[in-house]
Amino acid sequence: MILVVGGAGYIGSHVVKELVQQEEVVVLDNLSTGFISLIDSKAHFIQGDMGDESVLNNIFSNYDIDAVMHFAANSLVGESVQDPYKYYYNNVASTLVLIKTMLKFGINKFIFSSTAATYGIPNVELISEEEPTNPINPYGRSKLMVEDILRDFSNAYNLNFVALRYFNAAGAHKSGDIGESHDPETHLIPIILQHLLGERENISVFGTDYETPDGTCIRDYVHVTDIARAHILSLKALMRGELKSTIFNLGNGKGYSVSEVIKACEVITGRDAKIVYADRRSGDPAKLVASPDKIKKELGWVADLDLTHIVRSAWDWHNK
Ligand code: UDP
Repeated sequence: MILVVGGAGYIGSHVVKELVQQEEVVVLDNLSTGFISLIDSKAHFIQGDMGDESVLNNIFSNYDIDAVMHFAANSLVGESVQDPYKYYYNNVASTLVLIKTMLKFGINKFIFSSTAATYGIPNVELISEEEPTNPINPYGRSKLMVEDILRDFSNAYNLNFVALRYFNAAGAHKSGDIGESHDPETHLIPIILQHLLGERENISVFGTDYETPDGTCIRDYVHVTDIARAHILSLKALMRGELKSTIFNLGNGKGYSVSEVIKACEVITGRDAKIVYADRRSGDPAKLVASPDKIKKELGWVADLDLTHIVRSAWDWHNK
């Protein structure tokens, strides 16, 4: 049985939807940013906080948990600058309680949602896992701190972990039942689609003077379904004892600029966008594109779905 912490969130809910086909799943979520409607009905659901040791003691006593997958985090860069306490408390301190408690119950397999924000502003075309990590905001630092904790715990307490550094997660489940929804929404693709549906007046493009071919930022967009599959491959490899504690990038290895993403959305939806060119958003690196070689070599994972699939699936979900 697998405990999925944060299973009511965007990425967690996609993993749960796949995982319930193969395993019994318990979801723990405090619903601070997640939605109960996203949790697959085949999963057991417990509303509570991963930083609450008594809740965890109950779960680990009552369910036979083999491994823990952890998606529960605050993830807005701007908010993390305004309110770093929230990020260090929820993302680091509460995670520490979760790991300590699972180890106390003899559970030592852990999958962690990390981020390309751990790299900061890298100066390479394709970012490999060996690139130095220099996060430039509290969100990225909170994720890197947990990676460091996991590495130390792996050495000291026989923890086996996989940390997956997501590039730009996007898209929705093919059923159209679950997709990306944040409040407030800050992510590019949902914002474009909301505008094309008439729910926003225009799209602001943050920065047109970056050192990229069209001057707008380049990102590596990876479909949430591909991300979910990488989690399940990682989990299975950990459960079979085939993988030692490690970190993988999750990306396509191909970048698209903000202008290219807007164009793709216009073509796929057949609608025209009203674009406003705005100043740079603080903390945005010009280009973040993954080298996905390590996870391909070790787990055979490659992203199957490209930007067209991402936008189509997100458009279906937004229309629903
Ligand atoms: N972006 C933009 N307008 C928006 C939202 C985002 O131009 O309304 C840009 C943002 O500056 C970045 C890219 O789109 O270069 C992707 O941003 P997003 O917030 O989706 O993901 P991030 O890369 O920050 O994790």
